[in-house]
Amino acid sequence: MIKVKKRKILLLPGDGIGPEVIREVKKIIEWFNKNKSLDFEIEEDLVGGSSYDKHKTPITDEVFYKALESEAVILGAVGGSKWDNLEFSKKPERALLKLRKELKLFANLRPAICFKQLVNSSTLKPEIVSGLDIMIVRELIGGVYFGEPRGIKPIDNGERKGINTHTYTSSEIARVARVAFDLAIKRKNKVTSCEKSNVMEAGQLWKEEVQIVHDKEYNNVELSHMLADNCAMQLLRNPKQFDVIVTDNLFGDMLSDEAAMLTGSLGLLPSASLGAKDKNGNMRSMYEPVHGSAPDIAGKGIANPIASILSFSMALRYSLHLDKEADNLDLSVQKVLDDGLRTQDIFSKGNKEVSTETMGNAIIANLQK
Ligand code: NAD
Repeated sequence: MIKVKKRKILLLPGDGIGPEVIREVKKIIEWFNKNKSLDFEIEEDLVGGSSYDKHKTPITDEVFYKALESEAVILGAVGGSKWDNLEFSKKPERALLKLRKELKLFANLRPAICFKQLVNSSTLKPEIVSGLDIMIVRELIGGVYFGEPRGIKPIDNGERKGINTHTYTSSEIARVARVAFDLAIKRKNKVTSCEKSNVMEAGQLWKEEVQIVHDKEYNNVELSHMLADNCAMQLLRNPKQFDVIVTDNLFGDMLSDEAAMLTGSLGLLPSASLGAKDKNGNMRSMYEPVHGSAPDIAGKGIANPIASILSFSMALRYSLHLDKEADNLDLSVQKVLDDGLRTQDIFSKGNKEVSTETMGNAIIANLQK
């Protein structure tokens, strides 16, 4: 059974712009506590480079255990050139991998929504992306990034061989497929499963297992299968044909980045990483913006906090079961964009350029009491 402390939220701001954007999230959580009589207990700690600077490790055991007993972890971003030359195990990004792996966060949800107010920020034609709302579900802790054997070894003639192994078991595929089907039921009821079943046995298994879960448990959901390379092409040709896409770790990494760019700005994109639910419906989860620590703008007060704020909205929806509050927060982000407020990354002529803090305050001002 998963032991989590109800309503305990762990904030891990991290490095670069992480603390700047998570500060705005913290203000929003405090607003909910005060105005909606919610009793979120907020804890905050170090992760990534900032943790290395103080503790010589990207995540201490103490912080890791705090994450284990929190109902949701909200992370900013980690990394920066200051820590680039550290040995592999000390690098800031190792903290993320440890959290994902040890909390068994096997499903990564990345919505790609094109806000109508920002339709011109996309590199694609407005008619292709306007109204876009797709959800990519990426398997996060299996496949070729984790499979064994792996490594680089010397072979004959002074050559070397690099090895990674792409493996999936039936249950690893089935559990992430269920997440995708459950999401589809609350959306447009359509799942596209992507693999390379034409050239990979693991891809063939993926396709078969998704179909089995569908036929046994979700036969009211529309399911189609698509080769991952075709999906990459279709995302640019006609992205609005998709509702939920479910795919493995490697293809999901690429397809979700591609889908992200359809929407125009990294500063707007949230994500959720979810673990398995126990009998009581408890699960571990971590929410983070898709962007990194943006060292080029860190400390200037101009980072866009919307990706982090929408990540908290996903936490409200998926971990804290507060759909109404999540809708309220999403709506207030929309209103602020309607009012023409823009941080520098999404600024265009005719709008008002604002700081991270002003954007956060405006979103709070639009929340419905
Ligand atoms: P990045 O996402 O940090 O920045 C890419 C570009 O987007 C930059 O020009 C940046 O200014 C801009 N940008 C990103 N977020 C923004 C925001 N909220 N508002 C306005 N502009 C924003 O990617 P990068 O430059 O490739 O990486 C920088 C560091 O972040 C590296 O150390 C990398 O390893 C790390 N990183 C961490 C994560 C994570 O913590 N999950 C993800 C990606 C990269």
